[in-house]
Amino acid sequence: MDPIYLDHNSTTPVREEVLEVMLPYLRHSYGNPSSIHRFGQHAWKAMEEAREKVAHLIHADPAEIVFTGGGTEADNLAIKGVAYGNRQKGGHLITSAIEHEAVLKTCHHLEKEGFQVTTLPVDRYGRVAPEDLRSAIRPDTILMTIMHANNEVGTIQPVEEIGEIARAHGVLFHTDAVQSVGKIPVDVGKIGADLLSMSAHKVNGPKGIGALFVGRTGKLEPQITGGHHEMNRRAGTENVAGIAGLGKAAELAGTELERYRERVRLQRDDLWERIRGRIDYVHLNGHPVKRLPNTLNISFEFLEGESLLINLDLKGVAASTGSACSSGSLDPSRVLLAMGVSRTLAQGSLRFSLGRGTTPEEIDRTLGALTETVCRLRSMSPLYADARRKAKSA
Ligand code: PLP
Repeated sequence: MDPIYLDHNSTTPVREEVLEVMLPYLRHSYGNPSSIHRFGQHAWKAMEEAREKVAHLIHADPAEIVFTGGGTEADNLAIKGVAYGNRQKGGHLITSAIEHEAVLKTCHHLEKEGFQVTTLPVDRYGRVAPEDLRSAIRPDTILMTIMHANNEVGTIQPVEEIGEIARAHGVLFHTDAVQSVGKIPVDVGKIGADLLSMSAHKVNGPKGIGALFVGRTGKLEPQITGGHHEMNRRAGTENVAGIAGLGKAAELAGTELERYRERVRLQRDDLWERIRGRIDYVHLNGHPVKRLPNTLNISFEFLEGESLLINLDLKGVAASTGSACSSGSLDPSRVLLAMGVSRTLAQGSLRFSLGRGTTPEEIDRTLGALTETVCRLRSMSPLYADARRKAKSA
């Protein structure tokens, strides 16, 4: 039986249509987009067409799109670019406790250089309170960086409100939309974002290519210096094949957005309802409604997420215990801890993230494999036996 992949928040398979548009730029259309001759012009045209498609998906202007080597680089460019470029205005940044490492570590890096960072707490659903944000703003605040949707639990932040607050206080607003672009509508104007990061490999595009939307930021200091590429914002000969792939992935994600959202949401909710019906002592992590439609993060009492993960993998189901960057470590998820989830429950968490290709049969098989695995592992837990006994006698 084919293995089941339910780890689409980590990465997604490259779609056939995406691969098709990429291949010519790895074969005969190898020109450098900066070259004046026809080879160069052909590559340049492909790149600009992709820029239009990416811009269209997030309701931006093509001139506001800077291609980067992925989401991490886009986050770095946004945060360090604004910090270094606006140092004379102030040295204070605001972020949240549940950001991706690409944002948090970048903020920590800046702290070591003398910038000050306020890290906002989140509520039990993983949402930042706009009032907290408002009161964290100082005269020297130059940037707030708050993600659009969380990779581990899928919670969607009140970004429109955050954008309004930022604008009202004259502070720049960056949002890491790596997980939301292509999964829910993303409109930079409605959000009021000045900078927005995205990545191709989360939307069935290739790895190592992404983009940063750059609106009105004042000065954005390039983080990779060299030639005049990308309007002097990111030097280096462009990854034309990757960019063409990102463009196609963005186009497809845009045309299929509504259908995708509805389909994965129904499948995801069906999976959760059936898990709840069959397995006791389970808890949903993340916001019940304001959540990415494909993401289901569950804590299983009396279990370790890692052993669930390994046993499910043996049964042909690939899930995750949280962020791909921290899997392999037995530490409980810092995102869940920040949401107030206990260490034990955080350690017993598992994330299923569905994708475009997920089928109802795969949901059925996942449910079967999960139920069997949970029952078997719990049958070895004296704590679980105890809890059942107590529940029966109550
Ligand atoms: N931001 C978020 C929210 C992510 O989920 C990821 C990837 O997991 C990244 C940034 C990093 O993107 P990339 O893998 O393209 O560097």
